[in-house]
This record gives sequence, structure tokens and C-alpha cells, in this order.
Amino acid sequence: MLDYEKLISQAKSCGFTEAGPLDVATLEFLPEVRDMCASDRCQSYGKNWACPPACGTLEEMREKVKGFSRGLLVQTVGQLEDDMDWEGMQQAAQDQAESFEKLHDLLLKEYPGLLAMGTGTCTRCKTCTYPEGKPCRFPEKLTYSMEACGLFVSKVCTDNGMKYNHGPNTVTYTACFLLE
Ligand code: SF4
Repeated sequence: MLDYEKLISQAKSCGFTEAGPLDVATLEFLPEVRDMCASDRCQSYGKNWACPPACGTLEEMREKVKGFSRGLLVQTVGQLEDDMDWEGMQQAAQDQAESFEKLHDLLLKEYPGLLAMGTGTCTRCKTCTYPEGKPCRFPEKLTYSMEACGLFVSKVCTDNGMKYNHGPNTVTYTACFLLE
């Protein structure tokens, strides 16, 4: 049984704005979300072990999560000056990446078999080895992108009682950890 009071406190101490329970049964691996990766808007398609095609099929992802029932959902909510506050969005994205790596390292000590799904591609290394055709440098620390897994992030949030949109002049980045 997960100690959510402790997990939420750990998430907040790593810098996350919001944290709460994740019911793994709510996760739906949707081909229409995965298909959006091929348009390569984030420029990670075919460039990272954590993204398609290297991350495997949705069926393989379903197999990977089969052994999990509970996890943790986390968010960074950034405050923006207005809708065009690009710097504010970048800062929130950077905060999310830093908090995610910190919490991932912390949780790995207690849950070495965890599965981490982040906001974008895996950024553990400055450059991923995938395009070089070499193995992942840190397979235990590899984090998948939620979208690459076919997860409709706003639905994952609402299905788990967490807001996806925190109101005007905010930007929200979401990630999750499957723990037990
Ligand atoms: S840990 Fe490094 S090599 Fe492995 S997927 Fe992440 S960025 Fe690529």
C-alpha cells in the first residue's frame, strides 16, 4: 500500500506544484495519441529510446504496465504574464524537467522497478544514443513520454481527480510514476 502523504510531500519537496494518487487502471493507451508523434512536432520522433519507434508498440507498453496498479501523478503549474509569455512557459518546462529528474532519482531508491512517464522525451543525457545505434546509457533511468505511450494527458488528470487546466495565465506540465 502506497503512503501517499509521504509521496506527495516528496513530490512537493522536489519542486512539483501538485501531486496525487494515480490509478493505473485509468490509463488508456490510445493509437490516435501515439499517431500524433509521427508528425514530429516535438522533434523527438526517431531520435530517442523513449519515443517511437524505439519505445515499442502500444501493445508492448500495455504489457509493461500490467504489473502496476498504483502510482503518483505530478504537475508543475507555471504562472504566466499573458498567453504569449514564452519565457514563462520555458521556465515552467525547465522546472518540470528538474523536479521530474529529482523525484525519479529519489523514488528509484524505494521503488527500483518503477516506470516513469514524463512530459516529453527522455532528457537524462545531453544527446541520446538512439540515433547512433548504441544502447541506452541508463536503461534504469529512461523515462517514456506520456504522449508517446498513447496517453491523453488531460484525461489521465481528470480521471484521477487532478485539474489539467489551472486557469488563465498558467501553463501545466504533467508526469507520472507507476510504483506498485
Ligand atoms: S537515458 Fe540517455 S541514452 Fe537512455 S533514453 Fe534517456 S537520453 Fe537516451
